[in-house]
Amino acid sequence: MSLDIQSIRKDFPILEQKVYGKPYAYFDNAATALRPLQVLDAMSKIYYQFNGNPHRGAHYMSNQTTLAYEHVRDQVHAFINAPLREEIIFTRGATESINLVAYSFGDAFINEGDEIIVSEMEHHANIVPWQLLVQRKKAVLKVLPITDRGELMLEKLDELITSKTKLIAICLVSNVLGTVNPVKEIIEKAHARNVRVLIDATQSIQHLKTDVQQLDCDFLVFSGHKMYGPTGVGCLYGKKELLDAMPPFMAGGEMIDKVSFKGTTFNELPYKFEAGTPNFTEVVGLGAAIDYINNLGLDKVAGYEHELLEYTTSKLKEIDGMRIIGEARNKTSVISFLVGKIHPYDIGMFLDKMGFAVRTGHHCAEPLMDWYGIPGTVRVSLAVYNTFDEADRLVEAIKKTIQMLS
Ligand code: PMP
Repeated sequence: MSLDIQSIRKDFPILEQKVYGKPYAYFDNAATALRPLQVLDAMSKIYYQFNGNPHRGAHYMSNQTTLAYEHVRDQVHAFINAPLREEIIFTRGATESINLVAYSFGDAFINEGDEIIVSEMEHHANIVPWQLLVQRKKAVLKVLPITDRGELMLEKLDELITSKTKLIAICLVSNVLGTVNPVKEIIEKAHARNVRVLIDATQSIQHLKTDVQQLDCDFLVFSGHKMYGPTGVGCLYGKKELLDAMPPFMAGGEMIDKVSFKGTTFNELPYKFEAGTPNFTEVVGLGAAIDYINNLGLDKVAGYEHELLEYTTSKLKEIDGMRIIGEARNKTSVISFLVGKIHPYDIGMFLDKMGFAVRTGHHCAEPLMDWYGIPGTVRVSLAVYNTFDEADRLVEAIKKTIQMLS
């Protein structure tokens, strides 16, 4: 059975609102998706019914939150098909997950002269932590280039990897271009040369099935708020042998085994990397988001979003002066564009006044903008609640904007 988009839309109360008196069309899902009632309800249930610090108290409420929190670890474990539940670490988001690896893996395994490879299309969150790491360690950051279409130049990877390369950090889907990268192939190439791979799945987790065993990645990160979950929660998946060998990142309560002034020993995985009171309400919200996606069926979501992507792209291409930035053969859910010489901010501002939420600017990918030699783009990013009718209205609104600005 195909998805009933109109009934899905009823789960997202924000979509019922009007903005500037206009029906609201939300096309900024790559920045943050909307949250369904199911997620909001799960989180308010925690606040209304189960307050208690997980893992700590020996009282009823604390035990309830512990059960709810640990249940979500099982859900993530299944959702990404991780081998072991203790390989799932809860963080505040993809950014924190990458920083955890940059500090902890970096501390243990990166030495002077070592090399880390990222790609030209990375989000700042998958560039800057590595820049800081290479500064700390006097190591080297290398960049895998892309083509005009916005695809990785995979053939260059063999030259870039040397005996000094320790890690490749790469996105599965670009937040600007929508390119789906051939990460399985990259991981195979990397492993053949003894190089570890971190996958930034922040823009893929909500659109495509994730299977860390099939990928055989060493680390994988994502955020809850891009997959219909709350802000302030994300995950790091890491292979146990690596997480075991890595030192703690943040220190405090919960991550310890025994503390004394003579020395401290640390808790086992995953708690070694979860210092302090966990964001248990957000974690429970993430669990509800996973249930929500599973109930829809990620395959169906992917199929629908693909049709909508193709349709919207073809309609946009009918506009005079339209330049799509990123025309990879394998794409999902993101369309970046420029029209003639019009500044993307101007298009975004006019669209906003007409009730359309799009993103404009560099999308936290300034090196990519520099590569294309552009100041930024207008970005339309899709989610399962977007409709063909909204896409038609968006294209008409863009045409009107161009007329007004010309
Ligand atoms: N990687 C990519 C590809 C992203 O799109 C984003 C968010 N735009 C991040 C990492 C960082 O995610 P967060 O801000 O939720 O930590």
